[in-house]
Amino acid sequence: MDLQQLVRPNILALKPYSSARSEFTGDAEVFLDANENPFDTGLNLYPDPLQWKVKKKLGKLKGVAPDNIFLGNGSDEVIDLLVRIFCNPGADRIVILPPTYGMYRVCADICGVEVAEIPLTPQFQPDVAAILADADEHSKLLFLCSPNNPTGNVFDPARIEALLQGFPGIVVVDEAYIDFAAGPGCLALLEDYDNLVVMQTFSKAWGLAGIRLGMAFAGRAIIDLMNKVKPPYNVNQLTQEAVLHALDNQSQQQQWVTSLLGQRVLLQQFLSGLDFVTRIYPSDANFLLVKVKDPKGLYLYLVNQKIIVRDRSNVLLCEGCLRITVGAPEENERLVQALVAYGNG
Ligand code: PMP
Repeated sequence: MDLQQLVRPNILALKPYSSARSEFTGDAEVFLDANENPFDTGLNLYPDPLQWKVKKKLGKLKGVAPDNIFLGNGSDEVIDLLVRIFCNPGADRIVILPPTYGMYRVCADICGVEVAEIPLTPQFQPDVAAILADADEHSKLLFLCSPNNPTGNVFDPARIEALLQGFPGIVVVDEAYIDFAAGPGCLALLEDYDNLVVMQTFSKAWGLAGIRLGMAFAGRAIIDLMNKVKPPYNVNQLTQEAVLHALDNQSQQQQWVTSLLGQRVLLQQFLSGLDFVTRIYPSDANFLLVKVKDPKGLYLYLVNQKIIVRDRSNVLLCEGCLRITVGAPEENERLVQALVAYGNG
């Protein structure tokens, strides 16, 4: 891959903002360089712009060098940065595989970047031949969401590798839900493919959607570009402290995942016994895609019961489907009671 050819010329030429604290090395005792308030509130100083403490701890957990990690204000920030780094508005495009997560298109639309849509196969897998046939030197980013939102399945590893080998641009594998999947995901492929970016997030299995912290794993060249373009202090101090605490309590995350996977099985079993449920798609995530006889009617009925699910019934290949997040046991029980009453009513 020739990264120079893929990056927007203005980004290659960009002289990044240099924050006060990153301009010196060595020991210092008095900091009068950043116009901060000196009185200690615990938060009066700017946070570490490159979040090294977090990256060191996270790197050990993921088996990735800290230099190969980028942290963003949610993975949504990573998506936005990638579009702005690689796609020239009016000339380049991203490739997405509907049905999939909505923010890839939104970020491209905001930047005036074209979106090529190559639908998943009826089995919800990437159509490798169609993607490669459509791609050219303007196809800068391919977003593969695995496990995919809203279908819930992981993509076939052989198809992902075929795309890594054949796609002319950067392949972004969005693994927001990977902690709920049985397989290992794509981190191990980073050594072999310098056109690969793997995204993960603390918003799902880690129970930290509120702190807004997303991860990107990639080769040094791509990480350097993201660091160049990001706002100087994109990950705030409270977030860095909260995630360090979470990383010290990994058993909690594992307990939640185990519980949610158990609840997912119970919900699947229960739903399969309802006559207005016509299909439950297999899930590698913390949600279920469920085809029902009257999706709009059921959605509104549940809203009336103060239970909100996601109506995906107008989405390509998801016709008639609702997407239901696996909740805590008492929440799922409430859903079950409501669905029993709906079936009887
Ligand atoms: N990717 C996928 C597939 C998602 O479903 C979501 C959130 N729903 C995100 C990314 C965004 O995650 P974050 O909270 O890290 O911005």
